[in-house]
Amino acid sequence: MERRAFWSRSLLAAFLFIAGILFFKSFFSHRKDWRVPPPKPVGPIGIVFHHSASPRKVGNARINARRIDAMHKKRGYWLYYEGKTYHIGYHFVILPDGTIELGRPEMARGAHAHAVVRNGKRIEYNTRYLGICLVGNFSNKRTRSTGPSVSPTPEQVEATIHITKKLIDRYGIPLENIIRHRDINQTRCPGTRFPYGFIMGRLKAYVASKKGPSSVYTRSLSSRLLTR
Ligand SMILES: [Zn+2]
Repeated sequence: MERRAFWSRSLLAAFLFIAGILFFKSFFSHRKDWRVPPPKPVGPIGIVFHHSASPRKVGNARINARRIDAMHKKRGYWLYYEGKTYHIGYHFVILPDGTIELGRPEMARGAHAHAVVRNGKRIEYNTRYLGICLVGNFSNKRTRSTGPSVSPTPEQVEATIHITKKLIDRYGIPLENIIRHRDINQTRCPGTRFPYGFIMGRLKAYVASKKGPSSVYTRSLSSRLLTR
């Protein structure tokens, strides 16, 4: 009887010992996994400016991110990203009153510019460049769909500079990668009335003003709501 008790106690002790080893092994191997940093997402490296090539309003309805989303849905654009479907090809839409609306998340690929092969190297503008669209037709040509030729409003220009500065800081985007759609593809977009020189002058001054060891670029993992 005593012998039996001895063996059952020994078996229990051995079982607990092995179970303990397995538990700690799995615990520490998990701990080891936690110490491995997750792969860093590759953020955008540039910005492409666009115009909507549309009137500011159609009837009483103003053209905004929602309307563009519906228009791009008809064209068959879609992207599923983090549980949501997006049709709009741009990452930001800037309304004539200076409101900045969100399109696709910043880390999601866009649908706003064709890839280009330059010096044997293919540049994927949709994957690496953010698309910012200002509502209006800034081309000197008008068609039935574009409506009359207009200039961006001062509020729109200021909002464009504001959001571009934020993106420069967030992703370390160099000035040479801030371009117009027509600089890369066969298009008039964003039109001759788009004040590219003025905007770039302001951005140059901004970058120059904060040059120094204290300028730190941060990358965000997800898009944040941007407020003016
Ligand atoms: Zn464009």
